[in-house]
This record gives sequence, C-alpha cells and structure tokens, in this order.
Amino acid sequence: MSFKYHYSLFNYSNNFIDSFIFDAEMKNLLKAFLITLLILMIIPACHAQQNFLGIKNYRVFYGWAHNYPEDWLILRRFENNGRDYLLMVNPQNLQSKVDESSFYQVKQMSLAETRVYFKNTPYEKAISKAEKRSVNIQDAGIERGLPSKAGISLTADLCPSHKPMDRRIFINLINEFKKVEKPAPIALSVSGLWMLKHVPDIQWLKKLSDEDEIRITWVNHSFNHRVSKTLPIKENFLLEPGTDINYEVLATERLMLNNGMVPSCFFRFPGLVSDQQLVYKITDYGLIPIGSDAWLAKGQKAQNGSIVLIHGNGNEPVGVADFIGLLHRKTRQIAQKQWLLYDLSSTVKDEADQGE
Ligand SMILES: [Zn+2]
Repeated sequence: MSFKYHYSLFNYSNNFIDSFIFDAEMKNLLKAFLITLLILMIIPACHAQQNFLGIKNYRVFYGWAHNYPEDWLILRRFENNGRDYLLMVNPQNLQSKVDESSFYQVKQMSLAETRVYFKNTPYEKAISKAEKRSVNIQDAGIERGLPSKAGISLTADLCPSHKPMDRRIFINLINEFKKVEKPAPIALSVSGLWMLKHVPDIQWLKKLSDEDEIRITWVNHSFNHRVSKTLPIKENFLLEPGTDINYEVLATERLMLNNGMVPSCFFRFPGLVSDQQLVYKITDYGLIPIGSDAWLAKGQKAQNGSIVLIHGNGNEPVGVADFIGLLHRKTRQIAQKQWLLYDLSSTVKDEADQGE
C-alpha cells in the first residue's frame, strides 16, 4: 500500500465526516481518531530503507551507541543531506541498521576497545571465532551453523556478471515457503560491479522484500571482485597484488546504502579465497567472514546447519538447479516445518554461542 493510497483514503473519510457529522466536537474527535489510525497504517508501509544518495564523509567509526534499553556497536559514520548517520550492529543478534546519530548517546572508541567493551556478546564470539579459522586458503571464517538445526542458511553470491540475475531461486523459494516461513530469509553477497549493472534486479529484490516475501541480509562481496584465470590461488581474488582493501570494503557499503540496502556485519571473500593476513584486515573493519560448507555447484551436499552457497548471478545454473532440486525433495518436510531456512545472523549467533 502506498502513501498515495493512504492519502486518498484520508481525504475520502474526511469528506465523509464533514458531510454527515454536524456536531463540531464529535467531528474533531473522529478526525483525531482517523489521523491516529492512518499513522498506524503508514508506519509499517514505510519500513523500507531510504536510498542514501548524498553520502559525504563515509568513514570507519567504532564505539557504542545507546538508546535505552538498546546497546549498539557502531561500525561506520556518515552524513547524508546534512544529517549525521551511524551504521550499527546489534551485538546480541547480529542484525544491523542505519539510524540518525542524534537519537543515541554515542561514545567513540578504538576497535580494540569496542571489542573489549562488547566481549561475551555473540558478535565478539563470532568475530574471534572467524579469526581463529583464518589459516585456510579457502573457506576461512564461519562456514556452517549447528547440526542440530533442521534446515540450512542460504547464501547466494552476486559476483560481477553481464547476465541477468537468476530469478528462479527466489520464485522457487517463495513458492515452497509461502505457507510455513514468510518472509523467507536469504543472504545475498553483493559486489559493487554487480550492483552497478543490475539496477532492475535490485529493484525487483527490494520489492519482494517490501512485500515481505523474502528477508534479505546484504553481505559485502567486495567491489571489483577481481579474478584471474592464470594467477595461482595465493595471488588471486583479493590476494592479487595491488588490491586496495579499503576501497573494496567501503565503496561496496556506500553503493549498498545508495541503493537502499543496509550492509550487514558479514563479508564473503570472492572465490572464498583468503589468507590469515587478509582475514584480519577484514575483521579490522568489524566484519565477520562467512564461508560455506556446501557449495552446491562443487558437489558439496547440504546438511542440517549448512551455510549453503549458490550463485545468483546467472553464471552457475548447475548450483541453482541443485538447490531447486533440494527444495523439491524437501517439500514434505518444509510443509511440516521439519526443514526450514535460517537467517544468517541467527545461524552465526547460535554457532558462536555454542563455544568450542
Ligand atoms: Zn563471487
């Protein structure tokens, strides 16, 4: 429902009151009631994130933001059209949001101080766990959730591509889960170059999200997502010499905000390739690297608790077909709520809480 719809409804009801109610006091009372009712209807219709088109002074900024009873961990700060904003993460459930700084009590700290301040929270546990799993050249970070979870977390990567997005993923997801899990959670790892070339796909996704068909966690997948067919893996993807990590991280976030997407506190390495030094560079931005134990196109199978990886950019139709096959095999279990999709934030949170 649009604002225009609410406005015409308001005018119609207002005219109705004017024509049929003659007692002035009653008239005012009814109008006040009408305005309250419309405000209550409009608030949920406006939950979509605004597009930040005039971002200035976008910067890394750590600390604590307090708005009773909530405590938020600040990751970034920026200005947009003369207002000051914070990008924050809830250290308990790992959900992020953007809000005006004036609503909060703000205390700036270094990243080290911030992490000490929030020690014992799921956020700190998850990020230090990811750092402990930083040695692998592939699949560093959090690569799966708890096996006790009946279902999976779905992640779809949107690496640069000239092809249109593979919309089958979303259509099948919505169809299978419409009666049991609405909105269906999905994490989308977006690269800057993909966003620049796929504005209609972004609008389509945001519409599905606004209509509560899907709930998207936006994951940073670097800006350029460079890849070489000839370079060895140790010098490939973000390990390619000359890579500007600051640009790869922050330019992607800015473009997400331009497009009205809220960056999460997660990062997915292009090609799932990284080394220990690179993992620490990413966690120094306050971001938690997310791997995968079930890259379907590589023949890895999804198990309970898996963080499943498919490609949504049209370049890996085999993985998408595998995923759709998996959904169809699980139809009965899905209908009985015995196989569900888990929000990436809750998967990482529960896994971190488990301890090791
Ligand atoms: Zn990728």
